[in-house]
Amino acid sequence: MNILDGKKVSNDIKNEIAEIVTKMKAKGEKVPHLAAVLVGENGASLTYVNSKVKSCERIGFDSTLVKLDADITEEKLLAEIEKLNTNDAIDGFIVQLPLPKHIDEQKILLAVNPDKDVDGFHPTNFGKMALDMPSFIPATPFGIIELLERYKVETSGKHCVVIGRSHIVGRPMSILMSRKGFPGDATVTLTHSRTQNLEAITKEADIVISALGVPNFLKANMVKEGAVIIDVGITRVTDSEAPRGYRIVGDVDYNEVAPKSSYITPVPGGVGPMTIAMLLKNTLLARSRHNQA
Ligand code: NAD
Repeated sequence: MNILDGKKVSNDIKNEIAEIVTKMKAKGEKVPHLAAVLVGENGASLTYVNSKVKSCERIGFDSTLVKLDADITEEKLLAEIEKLNTNDAIDGFIVQLPLPKHIDEQKILLAVNPDKDVDGFHPTNFGKMALDMPSFIPATPFGIIELLERYKVETSGKHCVVIGRSHIVGRPMSILMSRKGFPGDATVTLTHSRTQNLEAITKEADIVISALGVPNFLKANMVKEGAVIIDVGITRVTDSEAPRGYRIVGDVDYNEVAPKSSYITPVPGGVGPMTIAMLLKNTLLARSRHNQA
């Protein structure tokens, strides 16, 4: 069993980007600038956004946090997005999800300028990704691809089963794993809440990518010997003994499944840290594309 160490790889990526930024500064070039829009005070969202901003500081990017009240109107939020779209100083920005219920999430994501859409959620980028054209790939799937690539995990001709069809993880993951080239060329099965007899499907998988958000869902009897296991799940589970009163649990019953696997991502320290690293990579890409424009 080998651990796909997202903590280490994400640090490597951040160091690589930091080096590039140092060179940019030495040449007097503008450094990448990431903005994040946070609506309301959702605890998990605040944690995510703060760590994105902190990572920017660590690697020398400029960053801006746009904090808005939970009761902001859709119209005003759209106006804030337009400001970011037209602000030349900002290379890329993200709108932290979920948004409050009274706001139409799709309408907001459609309003983001695709050239600054470093989350890769705009249909233009999603479509380009599906068509193998250069685009911004959503950070979490991009992070998984990067992990597979850096650890040289064989994917060609393998049966990859993705659990969960969300627009931000499962669906794009299924597209990426089926694309031509490495890491890809896999035969992909995309499963979801209506899938029947999931266990029979996952048991056939060479690679399982689990993104459903149910703690310890994937058990040892659901995977075959030697499978590659990617655990995207992040669920806060109450734990009075943990310093924060909760701990983070993945979709995979790690203790049971790890001994059967050839490669596995731990939670925490697997896919999670990769997501931020790839957001930074996308922002660097946005900067270089704006330079060329
Ligand atoms: P989601 O919550 O939007 O959707 C869950 C998906 O799981 C749905 O497509 C549903 O059909 C499927 N599903 C539910 N029950 C199922 C079952 N019994 N069998 C098969 N499929 C089932 O998904 P999401 O936003 O992709 O989030 C999934 C998990 O990944 C969550 O725990 C989330 O916190 C985590 N996540 C982690 C990262 C990261 O950086 N590591 C990023 C995004 C999401």
